[in-house]
Amino acid sequence: MAAVRKYDVIVIGKGNAALCAALAARDEGARVAMLEAAAPEESGGNSRFAGGVMRFAYSTVDDLERVTDLTETEIAESDFGTNTLDEFFDDLFRLTSFRTDPTLCEILVTRSLETMVWLRSKGVRFVPNFGRQSALVDGKRRFFGRMPIEAAGGGAGLVSSLDRAARDADVEIFYRTRAKRLLQEGDRVIGVHASDNGMPVDFVASAVVLACGGFEANPEMRARYLGAGWELAKVRGTRFNQGDGLKMALEIGAAPYGNWSGCHATGWDLNAPEFGDISVGDQFQKHSYIFGLLINAHGRRFVDEGADFHSFTYAKYGGEVLRQPGQFAWQVFDSKVTKLLRSEYRIRRVTKVSANTLEELAPKLEGVDGRAFVETVRAFNGAVREDAPFDHTIKDGRCTVGLDPPKSNWAQKLDSPPFDAYATTCGITFTFGGLRIDPETGQVLDVTLKGIPGLFCAGEMVGGLFYFNYPSGTGLVSGALFGRIAGSAAGRQAMQDSAV
Ligand SMILES: Cc1cc2nc3c(=O)[nH]c(=O)nc-3n(C[C@H](O)[C@H](O)[C@H](O)COP(=O)(O)OP(=O)(O)OC[C@H]3O[C@@H](n4cnc5c(N)ncnc54)[C@H](O)[C@@H]3O)c2cc1C
Repeated sequence: MAAVRKYDVIVIGKGNAALCAALAARDEGARVAMLEAAAPEESGGNSRFAGGVMRFAYSTVDDLERVTDLTETEIAESDFGTNTLDEFFDDLFRLTSFRTDPTLCEILVTRSLETMVWLRSKGVRFVPNFGRQSALVDGKRRFFGRMPIEAAGGGAGLVSSLDRAARDADVEIFYRTRAKRLLQEGDRVIGVHASDNGMPVDFVASAVVLACGGFEANPEMRARYLGAGWELAKVRGTRFNQGDGLKMALEIGAAPYGNWSGCHATGWDLNAPEFGDISVGDQFQKHSYIFGLLINAHGRRFVDEGADFHSFTYAKYGGEVLRQPGQFAWQVFDSKVTKLLRSEYRIRRVTKVSANTLEELAPKLEGVDGRAFVETVRAFNGAVREDAPFDHTIKDGRCTVGLDPPKSNWAQKLDSPPFDAYATTCGITFTFGGLRIDPETGQVLDVTLKGIPGLFCAGEMVGGLFYFNYPSGTGLVSGALFGRIAGSAAGRQAMQDSAV
């Protein structure tokens, strides 16, 4: 017999979306419990592994000052650029090949700034992203990629601030408590059956908010939905996102929505562990490929490394690496760009080789046809246009001519030793397929597109936003926004129920 615990709202998960949902439900006056499958030391989901960059709409420094404190010197000496509503819309539509759900997308874009302000009001601190998205140009710090702000302390800092806010608000958190099955009375969801430290418990409530991630950590589901070979990807974040929430909801007739065969996946150190390691965080990633060449086992290039800023290509290039023979690629650079490589290239746990000539480097690229590699670099060097100046703070148009695939920006000959190469494989971040929700309330819809009473969802579990690709920094903002929406609606419903 399962023990029974009663609350107004049950939130499943304890990442960014879940914490925002719990806080919003508390703001409505609801008694809230959160169920977290992980123990405290592994809790916090992918949100805790995140770098913490945040993409939201802003057009002036005043907008940024609503989110963070900037000194007069910082304002005077920086060019923060813009991410206007139009730019944010354009990026989302362009990157998703115009498949993003227009209503979800509009809510995300138009309410992204207010969501940042709300997060700040809950104690999250934001700072300018000096380290990763800016460079000194003519004495001014120029931000690029339309994303100048990050959470202080990265995703871990964000989660710990929200965690503190949740505890201060008397949200009860049950660790090592894995939700297994939704409880229903007729069509209405009345709670969830869970395993709490191995003991069966029925958590009963007016509303349940599912915010327990996608199926990225489940190799069987990856192969089933993403396709053959995806079981071989490494997992960049938590091992707890096993698709449980999606399975539970589909079992009771929830509508699947979005790009179920799509996911966010990046280049990731070849020798990184099977799942994320919180002491390394996102640093197994290797996002500076735009300044070098990506080489596969045949010694050939296979993508346009310079198609765009990494923010707009990195989430789909992991999949391209997975499709190469042996599921690996070497990133090769010369010394001209060493100073431009991001901090993740300088961590201790990195798979790197170096040499003073291409011929010496070739046999060190394990698994690669060395002769073909040298030919590839020679052909690349011969195709680089020298007439456009190199400028990494803009899409500089310095490209190759007559090469397939081309390199459209930041193309420079590989001719300055020493040469450094980094071995990468595919690291999956999160899956795009999710549930269909009412965008204004986060209520989950059934397959006939009718709301399922008592069931809400948020975060990675919301389907319909991302297809094929993703602009960096959008996951945390959309998780917070739809978490807040779902939590508020769940809290309101619970309060109405208790008033009856
Ligand atoms: C390495 C890395 C770097 C990233 N960098 C960024 C970045 O800089 N900016 C950005 O915007 N996004 C980034 N992302 C993406 C971002 O982390 C996700 O989009 C976001 O964290 C998803 O939040 P979520 O709350 O939906 O899921 P999660 O944070 O993954 O939370 C899911 C929660 O559900 C729990 N759970 C799972 N199953 C159950 C169950 N059955 N019962 C109870 N609990 C369960 C998990 O333990 C976890 O607590 C990054 C991701 C990774 C992995």
